[in-house]
Amino acid sequence: MSRRVPLFLNNQCIDSDSQETIPVTNPATGQIISDVPCTTPSEMEQAVADAKTAFQSWRNVAVPERSRLMLRYQALLKEHHDELAEILSQETGKVFEDAKGDVWRGIEVVEQAANVAPMLMGESVENVAAGIDTVSYVQPLGVCAGITPFNFPAMIPLWMFPLAIACGNTFILKPSEQDPHAPMRLAELFREAGAPDGVLQVVHGAKEQVDTLLTHDDIKSVSFVGSVRVGQHVYRTATDHLKRAQCFAGAKNHMVVMPDANKQQVINNIVGASVGAAGQRCMAISVVLLVGEARQWLPEIRDALAKVRPGAWDDKDAAYGPVISPQARQRVLDLIAQGKTEGAQCLLDGSDCTVEGYPNGNWVGPTLFSGVTPEMTIYKEEIFGPVLCCMEVDSFDEALAVVNNSPYGNGTSIFTDSGAIARRYRHEVEVGQVGINIPIPVPLPFFSFTGWKGSFYGDQHAYGKQAVRFYTETKTVTSRWFEPSVQAGGPNMTINLK
Ligand code: NAD
Repeated sequence: MSRRVPLFLNNQCIDSDSQETIPVTNPATGQIISDVPCTTPSEMEQAVADAKTAFQSWRNVAVPERSRLMLRYQALLKEHHDELAEILSQETGKVFEDAKGDVWRGIEVVEQAANVAPMLMGESVENVAAGIDTVSYVQPLGVCAGITPFNFPAMIPLWMFPLAIACGNTFILKPSEQDPHAPMRLAELFREAGAPDGVLQVVHGAKEQVDTLLTHDDIKSVSFVGSVRVGQHVYRTATDHLKRAQCFAGAKNHMVVMPDANKQQVINNIVGASVGAAGQRCMAISVVLLVGEARQWLPEIRDALAKVRPGAWDDKDAAYGPVISPQARQRVLDLIAQGKTEGAQCLLDGSDCTVEGYPNGNWVGPTLFSGVTPEMTIYKEEIFGPVLCCMEVDSFDEALAVVNNSPYGNGTSIFTDSGAIARRYRHEVEVGQVGINIPIPVPLPFFSFTGWKGSFYGDQHAYGKQAVRFYTETKTVTSRWFEPSVQAGGPNMTINLK
């Protein structure tokens, strides 16, 4: 029997009045876990109105008190770490270790949110003119909204609401309709940590509910993570409605392998970074550029990938789980077929993958193409499955040109023993997150998540100081105080601070 996912409004789990629902399915078994309601327009309106009311008091809660909420929340998340990981394994299919990583990377952002005070410091100059001082303060925006994707149902909501709320805002989260249970549990734990009513609201649905958030006058900012297609729509609509927006979109991440690199490290890292998490990571390596002699490592890369197999979340030997849905699987299979038609060599084909005991799972085996060129669809499209494309090039410069010609700029990595080449790469590559002998260079939360080009629309990035700037407004105050004993002169006709 499936159950309906409630809305989370004013710290209450509420059954939506909506008759329209979307099934949430376990990707390994194909079984429906629950139905997620498409929040009705009046429920959406109420969610925003209550968040707006809650903002009036939350903005005045002392900063150390907001930090303490985050400290309690961090402790609760740690206590419920494995429970959260198990919930999200059921709805994403992630193997347990991966699911734990999803939760942990989110907890790290909460730790940063607990330390928000130094990032809320303004600036001051005494005596900008005689007896006149200027001070800037950092103030919250109001009601902020977040729209999150399926692939990190714990980490990505936690990229957003803890910092926004620590800055004094209230927040409306619209999690992915494909895996809403982990975000709901995050909300319940936030209530348990002591969050006041209305500070975090969770609504469900898809395009209609997102569009309501993007166009609502009382929503001040929109944080989005998802595909390029939707990201562009969200950015355009939100900014058209004069909102602040940060939209993290799709990716195609390249790894450059120089022939002087440590071969075994390269091979081990390629396997984890390409097919790990079924390739459903925005920072996954989906293209490897083998430079010069490194192209001879292709058979060993193939053999290493061939040893990897997917499986259910609690299978300790499984390297990764199923892809999220039958539609996602079909899309990956279609792209594999297209790669073959367009002339790439398929050295390993995971199209016919099955997993014993799970006949209805969305399985795709590890897949490897060589001889890929920039014109091919498998190069141009984000595949979001366990498929690695290899390109063979003659020189570092050729590899760099390929990476810089890509419309995406989320992450990249280079494997080399040469400091000079590594330095040139990090300086010249037009990608926002660079790993040197590190395959997936996701910055920790005291930095920011800094995708570039078609992987990001906006200017202030997720978490770190940039997120604090995104979620706040600066107010600059210039003041002077008159001594009672000093007689006022005539009217002050000047407007300059002289
Ligand atoms: P998606 O774009 O399909 O969905 C993301 C969110 O947008 C969901 O909440 C969904 O309900 C909503 N949505 C879907 N269609 C919509 C529409 N037409 N109008 C308004 N809202 C809509 O993305 P997904 O499949 O859930 O996630 C995978 C994508 O996310 C990949 O492209 C991946 O690269 C990207 N991603 C990017 C980052 C990053 O930091 N750059 C991180 C994680 C995932």
